[in-house]
This record gives sequence, C-alpha cells and structure tokens, in this order.
Amino acid sequence: MEPIKITFLGTSGSTPQKERNFASVLLSFRGDNLLFDCPEGTQKQLMLSEHSLMKIQNVFISHMHADHFLGLFGWIATMTLNQRKEKLVIFAPRGGAEKIKKMLHEVVRPCFEVEYKEIKRGKILETKFFEVNAFPLKHDVRCHGFVFKENDKEGTFDRKRAEKLGIPPGPLYSRLVAGEKIKINGKTFSQKDVMDYSRKRSGRKIAIVSDTRPVKETVAQAKGADVLIHEATFIEEQKEKALESLHSTAFEAGEIAKKAKVKQLVLFHLSARNADEKKIFEDAKKAFGKTIVAKDLETISI
Ligand SMILES: [Zn+2]
Ligand SMILES: [Zn+2]
Repeated sequence: MEPIKITFLGTSGSTPQKERNFASVLLSFRGDNLLFDCPEGTQKQLMLSEHSLMKIQNVFISHMHADHFLGLFGWIATMTLNQRKEKLVIFAPRGGAEKIKKMLHEVVRPCFEVEYKEIKRGKILETKFFEVNAFPLKHDVRCHGFVFKENDKEGTFDRKRAEKLGIPPGPLYSRLVAGEKIKINGKTFSQKDVMDYSRKRSGRKIAIVSDTRPVKETVAQAKGADVLIHEATFIEEQKEKALESLHSTAFEAGEIAKKAKVKQLVLFHLSARNADEKKIFEDAKKAFGKTIVAKDLETISI
C-alpha cells in the first residue's frame, strides 16, 4: 500500500514561535503534493523537510487571515527564480483569489501558470486515486476544513487469472480493470473476470481543520478518519479567549475526535501562550486518548 505522508511544516497559530512556524500541512501521495495553507516561512520549512518546494501541484487556503496565506508570495517568487514550468492551482475562499492574484501579478509576476479556484462545500478536487472535499467552519471570516479521501479499493487485478483466460498482456488489462468490456475470440470479458475482490478495502481518510469553533459538521466529515488534524489554539483555562477569537480548545478538539470515532487526533495551530505543549496534550487526553501534539517538520505516514 502506497503510504500517505503528512508533514507538519508548521504548528503555531497567529505568531511564529522559536520552535514552531505558522501552521501548515503537506500531504504527499503517489507523486501528488498538496499544501494546506501557505503562511509566512512555508518555503523555508519546505527546504528543511524531505520535500521539494518546486513539486507542489495544489494549494488550499483555508481562510484569508495573514497567518494562513502570506507565504504564497515569497514561495512563488522563489519558484519563478527557479523557473518552474508546471501549473500551480490555488484554492481560495470566495474573494480570496482576487486579493492573491492582485499581489502576485503586480509584485511577483510568476513565470508559470497559476490557476485560481473558489472553495465551495463539496468535492473540489478529484484525481485517479483520491478526492478532496471542503466544508465550512466557524471563524470570523469565511473558512473551510478539508477532507482528503483515498478512493475505495474495490479489489486488485489478478494477473494469473487474466493470463489463464487467454487475455493478452498489455493495455487490455488496465481497460478491463477500469470497467470496460473486452471481446477476445468471440468471448466477452469484464472487470469481474480479472479482479480479486477479497482484497477490497475502504480508502484512507484525513481531515484537516484549521481555525474554528468546534462544529458538528467536522464530526460528520471526519467520521472514522485515519487522522483528524484539528486546531487547538487554547486550553480549557483560556476558553474565554477561544470563544472571543472563534478558535477551539484542545479539550474541544478531543471531543470532536471522540464523536467522530477517528483513529488518531493530531493537534496543531497552538497559541504562543501554550508553547509548552504539555497542557494542550493533557487537555485533549481528557476527551480522547489517541492524541498527539504535532511538532514542526514531524511526518506521519499512514
Ligand atoms: Zn490561524
Ligand atoms: Zn484565522
């Protein structure tokens, strides 16, 4: 099984900390690199990671607060100096694309194509192997959470069976797997003839939830997820602050994880007040046991 790698490029909220850059996550799967938020310093963090800053195809900006998108300009300027050729797609909330576009085209002038897509509820990206869905969060500006879902595996191709049936090796195999019916010597073959369905499994799921008060929809969207990445700006003692600034406490993130029955909760977007992550961890643990607090440049593979 191809691993899905989740790299925390940064884990701090609002301001950078000595040991933490602004919150941003890179998801890497089968050659696709998806960047969730691009705050200041992201390109430097990419350089420190095992990933190339040149090889990201899609960027998802959760909302237009400075600590979530200001890194786009410097990063794109570097890629322009390095003469990137490939298109970059930037997903941004309504109104966000215009702001980014203006700054990019007036100041940075990228040498490669940049495509802008507005984030709406539902499926925003679909590839051969996975899809990304967006859903609204509750923050003081329009903000979205994201769900990365690997396609369910219906079964695996059984080469021996195909050879036994006399189907010649080559492109016919992938056409059959894709669901096409093929006629050979007067006999028609279909997907079921060459698949081993005993190896069926549902696709892996990762939910990424940045700035928000806890919302019910996260529970539904992250149901059974392998990993829920949730913001935990504050601890319970600072609940007033969380309510005021529309953020979550670690305990609240734990409650969401518990209700959604996820396999693992990873907390990020920590306030500088909670630089000592121990309290964040202890708070969340009261609601949900399988919790970790992400560190910068930490990678989780599932
Ligand atoms: Zn933030
Ligand atoms: Zn925010």
